[in-house]
Amino acid sequence: MFHGTNITVKKKNTMQFETLAIHDGQAPDSRTGSVTVPVFQTSTFERESLSERREFFYSRIGNPTRQALESTIALLENGRYGLAFASGVAATMAALQVLKPGDHVVSGNDIYGGSYRIFEQLLRPWGVTTTYSENATTDSYLACITPETRLIWIETPSNPLLQISDISALAELAKQRGIILAVDNTFASPYFQRPLDLGAEIVVHSTTKYLGGHSDVMGGAVVTNNTALHTVIKNYQAAAGAIPAPWECWLIMRGIKTLKIRMKEHESNALFLAKALENHPAVHNVYYPGLASHPQHELAKRQMSGFGGMITLALKGGGSAVEQLIDQVRLFVLADSLGGVESLIASPARMTLAALSEDERQRRGCTDNLVRLSVGLENALDLKKDLFDALDAITETQTQ
Ligand SMILES: *Cc1c(COP(=O)(O)O)cnc(C)c1O
Repeated sequence: MFHGTNITVKKKNTMQFETLAIHDGQAPDSRTGSVTVPVFQTSTFERESLSERREFFYSRIGNPTRQALESTIALLENGRYGLAFASGVAATMAALQVLKPGDHVVSGNDIYGGSYRIFEQLLRPWGVTTTYSENATTDSYLACITPETRLIWIETPSNPLLQISDISALAELAKQRGIILAVDNTFASPYFQRPLDLGAEIVVHSTTKYLGGHSDVMGGAVVTNNTALHTVIKNYQAAAGAIPAPWECWLIMRGIKTLKIRMKEHESNALFLAKALENHPAVHNVYYPGLASHPQHELAKRQMSGFGGMITLALKGGGSAVEQLIDQVRLFVLADSLGGVESLIASPARMTLAALSEDERQRRGCTDNLVRLSVGLENALDLKKDLFDALDAITETQTQ
């Protein structure tokens, strides 16, 4: 039988992140010695007898491969309980099951389009209302709190403007008021930011992005230290069933083993490009929390150990400059998603946030001239040349 590390008590991690990512929750298979966790491609498990059932009995409820992934993600977030889901939005939906009709949510305004859709199209008809903060300052979240507020939902760095919310400050004000602070930690990854350590109650991931890391698998995760919240979310996982298949879990675990070296490289490429792009005449603004010019650079330095691989540009030429850039780059692939080894380029207004009304997008500051870059692991000079060749051509047409 498989003996994965089933995390039930919070232990003090004495090992460093990359060691945990490779070893913890993923011990060699006790039966065969297999160094990687086997893919338990089974729907069901033989029972010992009618009255005895084993730890695993049906894969929707629990599967050893999924359990290994759940333990690993929990450890990386320094959390007690991890749960894996079929996608990031499934994980988001599961985390939000701690709410009941009549409850109120305060959300960041610059959030993933799919999370906004959950709040507006799925939760609102069920009687859970959401107010969006004006910006990422603690005061603007505070201003939205009502007596019914039960949860604060933040994404930091945010999408696509890479604004930073102060996790510790929000955790403190939430605790004082009996409110749950939930953080979507997809952009930073647990390598650069651990919200539970900063006082958050729930962490959510789209493991489709950096944790998987190779644009070849979909998944999501929820991590918490809170037993009561975990129980609600776990029951929902078992009852609603949006679980990842064993093979998906295995792929995400394989990605996680190299998370540290990938994140360091994503970041060094992104920082290099962000600095270079700041000086390009076709660029109006570069949003990257690692730049000294970023309005919340000091806060980012305080709560993150690195700034990640996402950059957003505002171009001078508006939507047509965005079209030109997207048309002319050759290495940056035009695609939704982020966090893979290959660099991607996207127009938030036309792609990831296209489902929002024009008004909504304006209110969020998601203008037509934005370009979002997921900086991959290619050579930084090659990436710079690709962007600069295209931007130079834009400048030329603009000055003609
Ligand atoms: C992609 C993404 C999600 C949703 O994840 P899926 O795996 O696509 O369902 C949620 N939050 C953020 C920040 C994301 O980038």
